[in-house]
Parts: sequence; C-alpha cells; structure tokens
Amino acid sequence: MLVALTHGGDTLAVTRDAQGVWLDGNGVAPCGRAVTTFRDGTWVIGGLLPDGAERAVVRDVAGFESDATCSAGAWLATSSDAQPAVRFETADGRIVTAPPPAQLRPGAAPDHFDYVTPPATAWVPVEDALDPCPACDRIAWVSASDSVRCARCGHEATRWVAYASPAAPADRELVEPSEAAASEDWARRTSLRLTLEELRDATVFVVADSTRQPRLAGRSLSNGRPTAVFIPHGDRMTIKTTGDAVPDGLEGRQALQTMVQEAEPWPEVSAPAVSVWLDAQDRATRHAVATAERFTHDVEVERVAVPFAGLRSGTSWSLVGHTAGASVVISGRGHLPRRLRRVVDPAYELVGR
Ligand SMILES: [Zn+2]
Repeated sequence: MLVALTHGGDTLAVTRDAQGVWLDGNGVAPCGRAVTTFRDGTWVIGGLLPDGAERAVVRDVAGFESDATCSAGAWLATSSDAQPAVRFETADGRIVTAPPPAQLRPGAAPDHFDYVTPPATAWVPVEDALDPCPACDRIAWVSASDSVRCARCGHEATRWVAYASPAAPADRELVEPSEAAASEDWARRTSLRLTLEELRDATVFVVADSTRQPRLAGRSLSNGRPTAVFIPHGDRMTIKTTGDAVPDGLEGRQALQTMVQEAEPWPEVSAPAVSVWLDAQDRATRHAVATAERFTHDVEVERVAVPFAGLRSGTSWSLVGHTAGASVVISGRGHLPRRLRRVVDPAYELVGR
C-alpha cells in the first residue's frame, strides 16, 4: 500500500503489486491517474507523483483547492468533481511539469496489455489559445499530432478536435426543394399526431402563465409506454413531466446544465486552441452548476401551492417538484413560472395553432 484515505468508515488506497499500480481495482498508468468513488458518491482520484514532486494540488470545478494526501511516491484525494484539475509541486511550491501519461496498448501475448509511454514528440506552442490552464492558470499550451497540454504543469486537455472549421454538410440527395419540404412536413405532422394521441392518458403539465405556446418536443418510452414528456414554451423554458415517478437528486442539476449550456459559435482559432476552448466551455458550465444558488419556490398546481426545489445560476434556473404522482422538472431563463396546468387534451392543446 502506497497511500490510503478513510471516509465514512471505508478505506481506499493506491497499491502496488507485481502487476502494477492500482486504485480500488482500477489500473493506474505511469504518470496517469485513476478515479473511483466512496460509497456515498464522493469521488476519489489518485496516482503516482511525477519525479521531483512532493505535493499534488487538486482543484475542483467550483475552484476549491485542496492538497492530496501524498506518501511513498503516490497521491490520493477526495473531490466533489470527477475530473478535477491537478498540478504537482515541489516541497517549496515550484510547479513540476507532469509528463504525458502512458497509454494501454495490446501487448505481445493475446489478451495482454502493456503501458506504453508516448514517444517524445515535437510539441508546438499554441499561439492563439484563448483560455488559461485550469490547473495552473497560465496560458502556455503546446500541441502534438493528437493532444494539447500545458507546457508549465502538464495538464492535458480532454478534448481533441482535428479541424478548426466545422465539418462540411453531408452530401444530400437532390430533390426538388418544394417536394422535399412537403414530404418532410407530412411526415412530421403524422408522427406528431400519433404521438399526441398516445399521450391522451399520460400526466402532462404545461406552464399556465407562460405567454409562449407549449409544443411537444419529445418523450422517452419505457416498455412502450410514454414516461417523460418534454414540452418547451419557446426557447427560454422547458417542462418535463414523468408520470408515476419521484424526481431524483440529479435532475435539477442536469436541467440547469442544459439551460446554462448556450451553444456559442466556435472561435476562429487553430484546432488545438479550439480543443482548449471546448474544455473551458465545458468547465464553465459545470462550474455554474456546481456553484448554483439553492432556493425553494411555490408553484400553483390545480389551486394548490406545491413547493419546488430550485437551483439558480445567473438568469438560468431549474425547479424540481412532485405533484399528482408525477416528477416535474422545469428549467428556464428569466422569470420563474407561477402556475402549472395539467394537459387534458394533448391533441388540441399541444399542436401548434
Ligand atoms: Zn498548467
């Protein structure tokens, strides 16, 4: 055993045996890390310290930093985040550049895999990167043929895009435009009508005080029966009703995440700089959700005030409640809804008029 942590009566450790280095049964690549959880869902991240490092500083997506427990050349830390940024330091606080982690490759014998350290590559500075390193805050990115990393601390971007320009649209069969549009429109209307008829007995709510027309966006099926029904009111509010269900703890966060995630056009920079930017966008979204403010908000449902659990980040919010045996998740931007209305006749109320 190299290093161990105890949490809620459980102990997890980074261990070494003849086969390699392990965290809770997960292999740790040389210079890499492994991730697992304690029973309550707390993330545990660990690995081996690079040469010369004595500290590992773990920064979660909310920006909270903590020191990993280090011993016998290994580090181990708990985090609220499955993908925290980690930097390594000497005892006196100088940053140690972590080398790229080894990768698992098929070995000589069948069913046998070996860790292969990537060959030394020519790393080229990414001159037009827009975003600082999430582990060390410096803009010092370098790229090789298939990865981007921070030249100062070794943090590697998780995304990799090969081309900076969005892919060209796929070739389409040439059809007279009017004919294609009419056929598409017919298919869409028919499928919408059938779907709405199937929803007749389902519990579906819409936001009563929204000025925007509710439209059916989609539903998920379980055993051929509709379960979750998604209804947007314009592009700033969506309500999801799941019949015979109790909302779980993650739904409010997921709903807020989709509302915070605004599709921004890719910046006009090189492919490695876009990779870094995509990572930063993803981290910003997760940061907004991780640091969201909690509140409760009463929504009137059939003349009864139902308390909803809310999360808010900037102008975006999500509300999660339980009423009429259904789980109701609403997300939006701007004003909070005050009243919900149960849909009585989906074919009449949800088709665009
Ligand atoms: Zn860095």
